[in-house]
Amino acid sequence: MTIIPDTSRKILQPATLLGASPSPGVGGDRPGISGAGHRPVDGPKPASVRVPSPEELEELARHSQRLEAATPEEIITWAVERYFPRLTMATAFGPEGCVILSMLARIEPRVYVFNLDTGYQFQETLELRDRIAERYGIVVDFQRPELSVEEYERLNGGPVYKTDPDRCCFQRKIEVLHRVARGFDAWMSGIRRDQSPHRANAPIVGWDKKFGLVKISPLANWTRKQVWDRIVYENIPYNPLHDRGYTSIGCWPCTRPVLLGEDERAGRWSGTGKIECGLHTAD
Ligand code: SF4
Repeated sequence: MTIIPDTSRKILQPATLLGASPSPGVGGDRPGISGAGHRPVDGPKPASVRVPSPEELEELARHSQRLEAATPEEIITWAVERYFPRLTMATAFGPEGCVILSMLARIEPRVYVFNLDTGYQFQETLELRDRIAERYGIVVDFQRPELSVEEYERLNGGPVYKTDPDRCCFQRKIEVLHRVARGFDAWMSGIRRDQSPHRANAPIVGWDKKFGLVKISPLANWTRKQVWDRIVYENIPYNPLHDRGYTSIGCWPCTRPVLLGEDERAGRWSGTGKIECGLHTAD
């Protein structure tokens, strides 16, 4: 199937793409949004997620194996042909996300792309969204928790990231992704196997049991160098914090520049023992 990009660059919200009623919270402006109710970290699980059949899992594994030799563009094209418009992508505007956005602009710019805006992102990250929109015509949607940072901290007696970063990530990111995931069949992420031992076995195509979605990682077998070579070659917009020693960028309270010789993700939750926000872990 030949994929014809929509040159109008009109940004479609998930409800428009999926022919559903507008969902609360989509595309809202700061501060806070309406949407699913705020849940405590140890409270009831968000809406039940789909469980695939063994046959479906086998089929995904076959596709993943076959796509090991494919380029990221071929993987994205496969994902679009198979899942669009029920395909989405989450990006924190890391270098990998920016590269995938540059590819999506050529392949299918109507894929719904969103950013989990915790309220704690760097200003440079937020501004990158505008630079991406200018360059590619893709307006990444901000998806936010129900409570603004001010409300959240007031309710919890201060910043939760200082006392319980797992709960903060759950309530500011994971719950939001659960809400967004409803109505989609598959999501793409920019994770690479060489980012950390934890990600070393990430498949190109797999089942994300946490969110009940097919998960596609077009850059899983790319290296950091390949990503940056593409950024330089195509002059793809990227976060200027990378030029100031930040190799992996999340929320400002939980991110620091890395030192020479440190792991790429050493600046995330430094000194806490925490290594992932939970989006890319199986449980
Ligand atoms: Fe909270 Fe830090 Fe997680 Fe951001 S990265 S959601 S500030 S704990």
